Amino acid sequence: MVEVSILPQVRDFMNRLNGQFINGKTVVSQQDEVITITNPATDEVIAHVATATSGDIDYAVDSAHRAFHGGWANVSPAQRGLLLNRLADLMIAHREELAQIETLTSGKLITLSRAFEVDYAVSFLRYYAGWTTRIEGKTVALSLPSANGEKYTGLTLREPLGVVAGIVPWNFSIMIAVWKFGSALACGCTAVIKPSEVTPLTMLRVAELVIEAGIPPGVLNVVNGPGQQVGHALTTHPKIAKVTFTGGMETGAIIGTAALQSGFKRVTLELGGKNAAGFLPDVSPEKTVEGIIEAGFLNSGQVCASAERYYVHRSLINNVAEQLGKRLATLTPGDPMDDESRFGPLANRSHFNKVIGYFTRARDQNLTFIHGGGAFDLPGCYIQPTAVLARSENDELMRQEVFGPVASLLAYDSVDELVTLMNDSPYGLAASLWTNNLSQALRLIPRVEAGTVWVNMHNYIDPAMPFGGTKGSGIGREFGSAFIDHFTEIKSVIMRY
Ligand code: NDP
Repeated sequence: MVEVSILPQVRDFMNRLNGQFINGKTVVSQQDEVITITNPATDEVIAHVATATSGDIDYAVDSAHRAFHGGWANVSPAQRGLLLNRLADLMIAHREELAQIETLTSGKLITLSRAFEVDYAVSFLRYYAGWTTRIEGKTVALSLPSANGEKYTGLTLREPLGVVAGIVPWNFSIMIAVWKFGSALACGCTAVIKPSEVTPLTMLRVAELVIEAGIPPGVLNVVNGPGQQVGHALTTHPKIAKVTFTGGMETGAIIGTAALQSGFKRVTLELGGKNAAGFLPDVSPEKTVEGIIEAGFLNSGQVCASAERYYVHRSLINNVAEQLGKRLATLTPGDPMDDESRFGPLANRSHFNKVIGYFTRARDQNLTFIHGGGAFDLPGCYIQPTAVLARSENDELMRQEVFGPVASLLAYDSVDELVTLMNDSPYGLAASLWTNNLSQALRLIPRVEAGTVWVNMHNYIDPAMPFGGTKGSGIGREFGSAFIDHFTEIKSVIMRY
């Protein structure tokens, strides 16, 4: 055991009453309506955060609106990139502090908090920073008729949309927020971020670093409170130009509809998935098991791109199931603040109850549990790593996104059947194919309905690769150059001379 000792600045931050971060300052308008933050590893209350009032929300959006037309509009693209890089430097300088706040709030292993919420988030921020001076329009050759010798020239401008609302889930509260505000700020937009009610703290600290980096007040604001209240008020606020959301499919449908109905706001939706991993018969049972662990158990399965449906050839499935059971037994629960822990709790009690509900129903439906299927007998939200043998593609565990440490295995007989099964889902975020036969993989990739297809790997994202869903997994792409299309509007200019 290598228990991490909590930094004094983390204790101070958790002990004060936080609220919103607006126009460069902490704002706590009300003391009576507070969110109570519980450490999911211990069930202990660790902090309180004041909920945003409707006045706070207006103040945040107005500040972002003023900064869009003032402070941020006057910052050159090169300077924008420099400031985003400065923020990245500060996040690295405060790496341990941010990671500890995140782990205490969400139960994420401290090693993952450092790696994803700081290091990875920073690499996204630097990637976006690199784009600021490369956002370009075009000159266009026109075919307009000329009666008296006049000529025309056409050009397109890429203009920032305005104030962006970023609505963020609880599974990666810094990294996903960086995807939202990093891309917005790089394009010249300003932002108001609404973290999940259960993980409201880390972005408040990041917002303080934003000011320390020299980014003008109002460019990045954070408001906290329940999604249906604060998130909805932001989504429908008349001065919001765009909503970018990551979370569940049902919430995505509500937000997308509300955004369109309140002035045709632009929307990017990343809505998770019921992602499939297909193992061709040339992959050994040992490699299949390691593939399943890689694809499904990172951050206890609370990753939107994680696989939960696993298709294994009928000739191998019993062998794979037996070895998987043994492998999952090695994933013993640990304190997320221990450097050596490899399997942590779920992020909050309501999600824990939801996952247990799936297991109870699966048991009622007589599914075969290969391993797990319940909670560990510990305080906190510890769920056993679980695997089941599904009976058909219609089992609830093959259709609904559980968002937990669960693998459902189903046998297939032919490659055509494999493709049909992998595509049999309303979702289409990500998928993986596992084979030693590259030409087979290359032939299958176009047939798989998913925004990302991995080969012999799963769950890897890179700032340079566009990421987003097909079908019910959402609208739009984050990262790569694709993000520019989603945070700028094209203006066409035609001139006669
Ligand atoms: P939600 O999708 O409901 O919440 C995500 C964010 O949206 C949170 O900030 C939430 O605020 C906010 N929100 C909720 N309702 C509204 C609304 N009407 N208007 C505006 N904002 C809103 O996630 P849940 O936490 O409820 O999880 C539900 C399921 O979604 C999970 O079990 C999982 O299947 C999936 N999920 C997928 C994620 C992904 O990465 N794609 C991430 C998280 C969850 P608040 O939390 O304060 O209510």
